[in-house]
Amino acid sequence: MTERPYKDETLLTHAGNKPRANFGIVNPPVYHASTILYPTVAALEAALKDKFSGVTYGRNGTPTTFAFEEAVAAVEGGERAIAMPSGMAAIAGALLTFLKQGDHLLVSDSVYSPVRGLCGGTLAGMGIETTYYDPTIGAGIAALIRPNTRLVYLESPGSLTFEVQDVPAIAASARARGCLTVLDNTWATPLYFKPFEHGIDVSLHAGTKYITGHSDTMMGVVICRADHYQQLKTAIHGLGYCAAPDDCYLALRGLRTLAVRLARHQETALTLARWLQARKEVTRVMHPALPQDPGHRLWKRDFGGASGLFGFALKPYSPAAVAAMLDGMELFGLGFSWGGYESLLIPTKPQALRTAVPWFSDGPCLRLHAGLEDAGDLIADLERGFARLGAAA
Ligand SMILES: *Cc1c(COP(=O)(O)O)cnc(C)c1O
Repeated sequence: MTERPYKDETLLTHAGNKPRANFGIVNPPVYHASTILYPTVAALEAALKDKFSGVTYGRNGTPTTFAFEEAVAAVEGGERAIAMPSGMAAIAGALLTFLKQGDHLLVSDSVYSPVRGLCGGTLAGMGIETTYYDPTIGAGIAALIRPNTRLVYLESPGSLTFEVQDVPAIAASARARGCLTVLDNTWATPLYFKPFEHGIDVSLHAGTKYITGHSDTMMGVVICRADHYQQLKTAIHGLGYCAAPDDCYLALRGLRTLAVRLARHQETALTLARWLQARKEVTRVMHPALPQDPGHRLWKRDFGGASGLFGFALKPYSPAAVAAMLDGMELFGLGFSWGGYESLLIPTKPQALRTAVPWFSDGPCLRLHAGLEDAGDLIADLERGFARLGAAA
């Protein structure tokens, strides 16, 4: 594409595609490759010197990988992207790139919980210490930054509890002290939050979620400015992470329709969130696009929209009553991950995860992903669920 200031919907539609280089075929071919053959010894030696530019070895990426990376980077507003085999690999790859023995790491208390396992296990074993911070800390992060603090890790909103972080304030405080910031932008997608405009150094996504969007692919991506690319790519190369070409193809195909899918996810989720707010069984709905939500002001200031994932807390119903509700859902699936076309509803236990600040509710919490079904049908399914909850209480 030319360097015109195209809008996101246009970038989502065209970025990364090169039909003229592929017989006019709209989508990039899926290149399966390990060995790449060079015509001469001189060409082989040149590729060894500059192994991250062009097609040099299967693990370093093929034109399918590069098409996906180029498109994600364009919409996210970064300069380069690196496709990864999963969201968790993107997180591990980014952290292992920048952290070394003796470093201190600050992680939001609202973080995707497997990250706690990485920090408390592998990273701790390498002599990297983690401190969890209140996700609403904002500029107060400065007080937690030590001389050896190397990196501040953010997730906004938290994908289980939906606190919106003051990303610009945290990024500015971190930068003033020489710390890098890494943000998990999975909830907002490259469409609804622009990390690099808010001072973030490196962003990442579980492409498994909305980017792929069809619950059939594991995918991750790390996005950065040009100045961090070589360091990230070198570390990730050494760790051996690479995304499979079929998965890059599916992720890019998903990206093409992200804008229309997200608009619908957003609308349906808001309809359900407002309906839930009025239910007597519900004590609080955690959705930053609701004016009553504590994160609403920051969400409105910094985000271009809301995706379809939110939470709600129930009155203190018994686990058996909650199970009676969830076991009988017809349209809402009971499973992890989200961002596909289908609705999901799962029980969550934020109170069991928190270490920096206690969670506000002891009661059961649920996390809902609004899929692309008819909102009225989803509400009817929830209504029958609440009837089971009441009957079992
Ligand atoms: C799912 C998820 C991840 C991990 O992605 P995988 O592709 O499942 O490894 C990371 N961060 C967030 C916010 C997620 O929801």
